[in-house]
Amino acid sequence: MNIRHHLSDDILMAYSAGELPEAFGLVVATHVSMCDECRARMESFEAVGGAVLAGADSVAMGKDSLAATMALIKSGTQHDKAPAPTRRAGIFPGPLAAYAGGGPESLKWRRVGGGVRQAILPSSEEASARLLHIPAGAAVPDHGHRGLEMTLVLQGAFRDEAAQFGPGDVEIATDADEHTPVAEPGEDCICLAATDAPLRFNALLPRLAQPFFRI
Ligand code: ZN
Ligand code: ZN
Repeated sequence: MNIRHHLSDDILMAYSAGELPEAFGLVVATHVSMCDECRARMESFEAVGGAVLAGADSVAMGKDSLAATMALIKSGTQHDKAPAPTRRAGIFPGPLAAYAGGGPESLKWRRVGGGVRQAILPSSEEASARLLHIPAGAAVPDHGHRGLEMTLVLQGAFRDEAAQFGPGDVEIATDADEHTPVAEPGEDCICLAATDAPLRFNALLPRLAQPFFRI
């Protein structure tokens, strides 16, 4: 897989520390399962984190406080292992297949206009995760973002004002970015997207539709 758009060190570290909302964590885990480069970087951060923890043991902490610390870490959503490389039987890599329960056919898809369909995935409140199915050549309505949006391509490719994104590529968009993703011709594009605030659509109709579709 020829991945050209990766996750930043900040995001990989935040994932390892368990600091990302569930929806973003899902995107990160899925990308890392597809991407040798990001997995290697994540493993190197984890090695450093482990060394810090081991050092703390020998310095001041008694046995009980170390045990308490470890229990605290384990009870959170800290990820002490980078997601394993995925074996791609279908289009859902391991972490996503585990989360979404199998493949696209097991999900509830709804139309959101322009031939685009989405399936909302369960996640904690701070951010939402969905799968988008964009027919080849079709556009996702022009929109801006109030927060952070991470989009990972699973099948096909899309292009927007910033770049072209193919399988395994992840696009990070923030408040400052306004874009119109268009699926490349040839193959329908399927993406996993996470957002931490409702998107801001520019055209009137999609904006009216927004409360119903939870985009
Ligand atoms: Zn990567
Ligand atoms: Zn966007």
